[in-house]
Amino acid sequence: MKSYKIGILKGDGIGPEIVDEGIKVIKKLALLNGFEIEFVDEKIGGDAIDTYGVPITDETLDVLGSCDAILMGSVGDPKYDQMTPELRPEKALLKMRKTLGLFANIRPAKLYEALKAHSPLKPSIINGELDICVVRELNGGIYFGKQVESEDGQSASDEMAYSVPEVKRIAKIAFEMAMTRNKKVTSVDKANVLSSSRLWRRTVIEISKDFPEVTLEHLYVDNAAMQLIINPMQFDVILTSNLFGDILSDEMSVLTGSIGLLPSASINESKLGLYEPIHGSAPSIAGQNIANPIATVLSVAMMFRYSLDLHDCADQIESAVLKVLNAGHRTADLASNDQKALSTSEIGDLITEAL
Ligand code: NAD
Repeated sequence: MKSYKIGILKGDGIGPEIVDEGIKVIKKLALLNGFEIEFVDEKIGGDAIDTYGVPITDETLDVLGSCDAILMGSVGDPKYDQMTPELRPEKALLKMRKTLGLFANIRPAKLYEALKAHSPLKPSIINGELDICVVRELNGGIYFGKQVESEDGQSASDEMAYSVPEVKRIAKIAFEMAMTRNKKVTSVDKANVLSSSRLWRRTVIEISKDFPEVTLEHLYVDNAAMQLIINPMQFDVILTSNLFGDILSDEMSVLTGSIGLLPSASINESKLGLYEPIHGSAPSIAGQNIANPIATVLSVAMMFRYSLDLHDCADQIESAVLKVLNAGHRTADLASNDQKALSTSEIGDLITEAL
């Protein structure tokens, strides 16, 4: 029987509750499709700081590197806000992305028909299928550049650097993704001002020649932020750098109604992937069994598709989620005033039953 090793990082806040629902779904699919799963529990974020004194240990990174895929909840809690940057829970994410070479962050956002009323956009703007996928470079750019703060604390700088190979490998992922979708890539940069963006644009044009069926467009990031609100239906795949992708993908997420719905994947060259909801640890609702687990469950679908090559399982999860939403079941973030909101585990149970 085929067996897969999945690293589990529950993390902080609502992390443990939502990851438990993801595990439920994985176990059910293993049962239905006849494969085995070995779950390996590791600690990250505040959970790791409390146990080991650091947000992620080298031993944990070694274990994760030996897995087929990793499912994560979220990290972060206000109680660590005063820690030095090296000891903050979020530092674990940057270290894990770099150590495991997770250079491609894939964030799809779909507005479900049943949830259109939850989008902040006017119906006249979302009068079709809103289905966008952001492909964000995750291992370079300003988050990994040289950081300098003057001794007197009066000035600071962050370097934004990209190399041709770094841009090539992420552009290739975006074009390949577009080939499985609507064959359009919008590359977002700030080439009118930044030299790293001019290199980005040049390189993306070069890679586009290998994908003649894909339409390539370029937008400056300020315009892209505006276009996402006034004409989001024009987008298929958005290809962008680390910083711009961070901001645009969060903007895009609210178009779909709730941040609790959106999954993400961060993959490396050998298809090892970290799968996690795009939201954070939501400390104010942690431990109450009210968080929306759908973003995590859809992250599991991405895990089956991109790391385990089990495309049928991914499709089955997405259909099950759709069925539950179409039947009107909602957690508190999406329930209307006259509706009884279901708990995190109740939604997880319904999705598992729908499988
Ligand atoms: P957040 O995403 O945790 O919360 C933003 C808002 O969305 C809150 O109102 C929250 O209650 C709500 N929310 C988030 N997920 C939800 C869900 N599944 N169901 C229902 N409602 C949900 O963002 P924040 O408040 O800015 O950050 C909280 C902590 O999370 C911080 O420490 C931050 O650094 C961390 N964070 C971690 C990650 C990650 O682990 N990848 C990402 C973003 C933020």
